[in-house]
Amino acid sequence: MDKIIRCITSDGAIMATAIDASDIVFTAKKLHHLSRSATAALGRLLCAASMMGNMLKQPEAFLNLRILGDGEMGAVVAVGDSRGNVRGYVENPDCPTEYYNNGKINVSKAVGKNGTLSVLRDYGTGDPYIGQVELVSGEIAEDITNYFAVSEQVPTVCALGVLMNKEDGEVMLAGGLLVQLLPGAYDEAIDRLEANVSRLDPVTTMLAKGMSILDMCKAALDGFEVEVLDEYPVNYVCGCSREKLERYFMTMSDAEIRTLPDENGVTEAVCQFCNKRYTFTRDDLERLIAEKNA
Ligand SMILES: [Zn+2]
Repeated sequence: MDKIIRCITSDGAIMATAIDASDIVFTAKKLHHLSRSATAALGRLLCAASMMGNMLKQPEAFLNLRILGDGEMGAVVAVGDSRGNVRGYVENPDCPTEYYNNGKINVSKAVGKNGTLSVLRDYGTGDPYIGQVELVSGEIAEDITNYFAVSEQVPTVCALGVLMNKEDGEVMLAGGLLVQLLPGAYDEAIDRLEANVSRLDPVTTMLAKGMSILDMCKAALDGFEVEVLDEYPVNYVCGCSREKLERYFMTMSDAEIRTLPDENGVTEAVCQFCNKRYTFTRDDLERLIAEKNA
């Protein structure tokens, strides 16, 4: 079962969040029939969305991350709620996969180096805060780090990883680590953190060694006294429903609703996030129109 944890150093200098998202990324690959490069890109962004969503305090708040580069992947989108539950999709799930010489997937090539990372935070008020930065590499973790530095002036270390089986491409492990300096950070703490980070293994290596998400935070915060703020189970969750779609249709005019059915008199809607299909007949839509005008 996937879990997320938030820790803080007792001196209030540094916060660390870690996630084991192996099941979430396994689920995302299955749902969307993702190629290896698409699994790596969406998996990394889902880990980031979970950790950044989990930092939001308001229960109704959510966060939307969207990467759009000039590679073959097209848009990569991940949405996280304030408990770290996530959902997402990529525009081109069949995106081809190329490799670096060391055998790692070249996510930068698939996503593209030129483009934008947009971060939308809605604190539950429906009046979102939106930030946008240029991509620095398209490898995603570096782009998240750069977003925090440029857009929010928060020094951040971000590591994201997805490990797939070499033979069949099945997701074995996925996770992330996000470490941020708080306003109370002092020079010695920063030096110690930098030394710790330079010694850290990649996230999937730490998970493969059997380290827990708390162990991962403690490794990043070695030499500090660490307090756990909270730890939750997290899942791939899509909140779509027939009722929500009906409510959406009811915001349209009668004439617009009547243009929806195809030549067979049926309207089909497919959820981008979970691929669930919803069908409405002409009679269903007439019932909605009657309800709307009642
Ligand atoms: Zn859905």
